[in-house]
Amino acid sequence: MVLHMSSLFLRTLREDPADAEVPSHKLLVRAGYIRRVSPGVYTWLPLGLRVLRNVERIVREEMDAIGSQELLFPALLPREPFDASGRWSEYGPNIFRLQDRKGADHLLGPTHEEMFTLTVKDLYSSYKDLPLSIYQIQTKYRDEARPRAGLLRGREFVMKDSYSFDIDEAGLDKSYQAHRDAYVRIFDRLGFHYVIVEAMAGAMGGSKSEEFLATAEVGEDTYVHCTSCGYAANVEAVRVPAPDPVGWEGVPAAHAEDTPDTPTIETLVNHLNEHYPRDDRPWAAGDTLKNVVVMLVHPDGTREPLAIGVPGDREVDEKRLGAQVEPATVEAFDEKDFAVHPGLVKGYIGPGALGLEGTTGIRFLLDPRVAAGTRWVTGANEPGKHVIDLVAGRDFEGDGTIEAAEVRFGDPCPNCDHVLEGARGIEMGHVFQLGKKYAEALDLRVLDQNGKLTTVVMGSYGVGVSRAVACVVEGNYDDAGIIWPRELSPADVHIVAAGKDEALFSAADEIARDLEAQGLTCIVDDRRGVSPGVKFKDSELIGVPTIVVVGRGLADGKVEIKDRRSGERREVALEGIVEAVLAEVRAS
Ligand code: ATP
Ligand code: MG
Repeated sequence: MVLHMSSLFLRTLREDPADAEVPSHKLLVRAGYIRRVSPGVYTWLPLGLRVLRNVERIVREEMDAIGSQELLFPALLPREPFDASGRWSEYGPNIFRLQDRKGADHLLGPTHEEMFTLTVKDLYSSYKDLPLSIYQIQTKYRDEARPRAGLLRGREFVMKDSYSFDIDEAGLDKSYQAHRDAYVRIFDRLGFHYVIVEAMAGAMGGSKSEEFLATAEVGEDTYVHCTSCGYAANVEAVRVPAPDPVGWEGVPAAHAEDTPDTPTIETLVNHLNEHYPRDDRPWAAGDTLKNVVVMLVHPDGTREPLAIGVPGDREVDEKRLGAQVEPATVEAFDEKDFAVHPGLVKGYIGPGALGLEGTTGIRFLLDPRVAAGTRWVTGANEPGKHVIDLVAGRDFEGDGTIEAAEVRFGDPCPNCDHVLEGARGIEMGHVFQLGKKYAEALDLRVLDQNGKLTTVVMGSYGVGVSRAVACVVEGNYDDAGIIWPRELSPADVHIVAAGKDEALFSAADEIARDLEAQGLTCIVDDRRGVSPGVKFKDSELIGVPTIVVVGRGLADGKVEIKDRRSGERREVALEGIVEAVLAEVRAS
């Protein structure tokens, strides 16, 4: 195939688009791969579509290789299956809902657990039909609260989702492992650096769950890994080891003290050290218990205040909290909310006001570090007063624990006695063991060996296909533009006719035809009246890994071949160009 720049539906831009913040978004728009339609909704221009198809091909090949079978569900789905699973309401405002002319509710599929489960139920009835693995590559719709970064978080995006169906847990383990192995091969081929981390099972329930995160500063996820053992987890999934309970013999009774002008933890700690010094060591922020109140919004719209007690040297991490309270969402507790709850004294909220036993009855969940016997300074529910020597288990109790405090690099590993390091990443794939959640909700049962009905055990596996296009760019670019890995590139070679002489154009075309005959795809920059400088710039921006320049050297029977990745150039005799390009393509 030969793509002529003179007619290719493409305009490259010199300027970054105004709304773009991350490199992949800027470059994909500037190089003419995608075009924004509305927030989080993009058009795939010809070159972009070619890259998307390449990602799809890699995903397809590896899914087919593990015996998964491709099918395609509609994106337009009726409401009923989602009522049956409970997700019509759980999704809240995150899905696109619409009605047909008769007023029947529909949605645009955000993911397809229900459809896969119901279709298997429709067609299969015996253990002899299992195991089964099926997948689709589908456009998904989610009304994301914050679409951002171009393809990285869209409202319309392409996902590969697959599901495994087994008769028992052992079967699920095998299916899960096969998928995990396929994902390793997919992401190795896609050519960006990634890590595999433990993940939250999230709204879908289930047990074992891992994410494939592309390591990237622009990522929305943070992960940690142990400096010694193999532990690695999305911070959302980190379990803080709860300290063993300690006795409180000899701990004085709790006492409220004046702490005027101590609106922050720092001012409070200074005040304590000045007026109520400890004998063993100075007070530190970690000795204070900070009680943060947020507003949960449940899928049915009900609003519930929630108080979270964390050591004062840590913030509540929005993403960790969000993952814990899903499908509810979290909003700030604002002045109006405080007005409704006069028992909450802003800046001085203490356990006495909280919990189902407390004066406000607001649900109160504690960080695992607030274990029985630990001793705290915390708000006294009166302006300008704190309580000292308040002992967990003796003086107060929460309504449970919650993993919502920030995880810090340097924190102890939950698995061994070393510390955690971490970085940011982009979630590219997610494998998890759904177990029986959907099969139970939708009554997917088959006859087992003994002729008894048994619930099918499922796994669910996703790859962000359109997100991968952006992710590949995040891992492969320089100041001049994109540098595609060979398998993803929209073409094998980009041929530039650099000059005015017609002979250059016909030579470039001839090279393209010869390469096409060898099965390669070529872009030929055959634009008349465009300077060589502009053509070189465009070739670097577009990012095909091999560039052939047909220029001045042609008079001596020479053309230039340039490696976009290393920048290396060399002259090659015109007769040898096809061989030389083929060698490049095969080498990488
Ligand atoms: P995230 O935490 O990033 O919102 P998710 O956990 O909701 O993702 P899944 O439901 O696990 O996503 O979807 C499977 C895959 O689809 C994800 O691993 C990700 O690569 C991709 N994906 C999810 N949401 C989007 C989106 N809004 N835009 C592009 N790709 C997405
Ligand atoms: Mg996920």
